[in-house]
Amino acid sequence: MALVSMTGLMNHALQNGYAVGYFEAWNMESILAVVDAAERTNSPVIIGFGGQFIGSKKRTVRENIEHYGYLGKAIAKNTKLPVALLLNEAHTVDLLIKGLHSGFNAIMYESHDLSIEEFTSLNKYLVKTAHYLGAVVEAEIGQLPDSDISSNTISKGEKTDPDLAAKFVEESGVDALAVSVGNVHLLESGHAEIDFDLIRCLRKKVKVPLVLHGGTGISEDDLRQAVSLGMCKVNVGTILKRAYLKSIQNYLGNHDVDHMDPHNVIGRGGSMDMLCGAREAIAEEVVRFIKIIGSENKAHLI
Ligand SMILES: [Zn+2]
Repeated sequence: MALVSMTGLMNHALQNGYAVGYFEAWNMESILAVVDAAERTNSPVIIGFGGQFIGSKKRTVRENIEHYGYLGKAIAKNTKLPVALLLNEAHTVDLLIKGLHSGFNAIMYESHDLSIEEFTSLNKYLVKTAHYLGAVVEAEIGQLPDSDISSNTISKGEKTDPDLAAKFVEESGVDALAVSVGNVHLLESGHAEIDFDLIRCLRKKVKVPLVLHGGTGISEDDLRQAVSLGMCKVNVGTILKRAYLKSIQNYLGNHDVDHMDPHNVIGRGGSMDMLCGAREAIAEEVVRFIKIIGSENKAHLI
């Protein structure tokens, strides 16, 4: 079906006591894996890509956001599930505007270098543009700490101030708010300590749906509790890349690919296809999260 509104999905989730997942993809097979999983569980889903990666200045090969937007849109059109398409955490307005014009119906700008006034007026502009094009805007107030696995450290973040968040939402007009409540970006080992009282307080003061980033680093029980308190979108990314890597690592460790027909290893799609196995590994993780956040069997209700 055609893309559905991300805030429509979130509001349905909020009213029915579950959360909808945003599972961040990076290419065609990973985004298809997310839809495989959602179809398997009859779940609404938010698909999309990370603007900070696609637009990264460190890229040695330039990417064109149009390819990603059109791809996501085509995938949504060819499934019966209600799907929204998010361009998440882009660091430039230019990328977001191009994304809106190539099919994304939800966008999020990320920067922690702007003053709150600058951040508010920038989001105001994005809201105006996105709404005109039938899309919605998510923003984050507070700052999630970042985990760095190579140095085993976590940067200092800043929890969301409920009054500041409420004021920002009112002034900017954003449609969804990502919050910092103990959740950690990119965290794999250990568990983030979620501040449930802060979630309760934010839920009371902030008028738009709340989003929990850093889903990978949160325990299953804490995720369930956060959802029960009104978190209606959960972002998951890191664990999907980890599952993909592990699957390929296992395959290469167990097969002598130098003596195999490369078409069987890549591209034929049979039982020996390494990339099909990796796609399945992503889908399995997505299914697991869909069950935890409660969106299984909700697609037909929307
Ligand atoms: Zn995030």
